[in-house]
Amino acid sequence: MDVCYDLHSHSTASDGTLAPATLLEQARAAGVDVLALTDHDTLAGVAEAQAAAQAVGLSLIPGVEISVSWRHMTLHVLGLNISPDHQPLLDGLAGLQDYRVWRAEEIARKLEKNGITGALKGAQKHCRGGILSRTHFAHFLVEAGRAASVRDVFRHYLVRGKPGFVGGQWASMEDALGWIRDAGGLPVIAHPARYGLTRSKLNRLVSEFQAAGGVGIEVVSGSHSRDETLHMAAVARTNDLFASCGSDYHGPEKPWVELGRLRGLPDGCTPIWQADGWPLAA
Ligand code: AMP
Ligand code: MN
Ligand code: MN
Ligand code: MN
Repeated sequence: MDVCYDLHSHSTASDGTLAPATLLEQARAAGVDVLALTDHDTLAGVAEAQAAAQAVGLSLIPGVEISVSWRHMTLHVLGLNISPDHQPLLDGLAGLQDYRVWRAEEIARKLEKNGITGALKGAQKHCRGGILSRTHFAHFLVEAGRAASVRDVFRHYLVRGKPGFVGGQWASMEDALGWIRDAGGLPVIAHPARYGLTRSKLNRLVSEFQAAGGVGIEVVSGSHSRDETLHMAAVARTNDLFASCGSDYHGPEKPWVELGRLRGLPDGCTPIWQADGWPLAA
């Protein structure tokens, strides 16, 4: 039988709503054989996920989704199969976590100027000790009756030009890929169709990503349409990038994204699990 891979998921260590152990149980129940935990800018969930993976009989790929600033945009780069106790990676992520704390205070200050009080405490309540994300502010704003849905919050509050937007500096491409590679991981561009890139800008991204040591691209994603998947499969083939697939699962609150329910990789793609450095027999 085919092995079921889901190589992009979140837990309460970042902006997912399931604890790592619960996430692993759900993944197993959904028929996933190999799951990557890829929380935003943190490895805090990996140890619990590893223990749970053993308990439920599933292979866990320790991972991370690093926020990267590239040409005035924010991109997400997955590091798959990183060593979770590699100090330079942990130090790099600690810098991003500090930036998140500062940004959260700024977001709350801006919202307060717009008459919305208590946002920092409110976001922290939803975050439950993990790293603070805009998602947590979104849950607070919905709860406070300021928007009908998380999607609406992103439309009206937390993006450029809106009252709760705070710009800033994430990791550089070189730093993020350096940390991932030093930690033994495989760098993969996450959900490449979500950045609104023109064809030429996507080409530039791929070439700078490869020059910095990047090896993979997420072809199948919970946030890609069928056409986007086919487009990214062509990008992978043309540029000799390994193809990855992941749901980008954040929890049952987004029922349209399910663990392990992914399209197969289109023909001609070389899966990331055939790359040198992949930990399991493919
Ligand atoms: P942050 O990394 O804190 O800036 O937050 C980014 C996270 O917000 C992403 O990982 C998504 O989970 C979530 N997000 C971004 N845009 C949207 C959107 N339009 N609707 C729902 N969630 C979003
Ligand atoms: Mn997220
Ligand atoms: Mn992402
Ligand atoms: Mn993600």
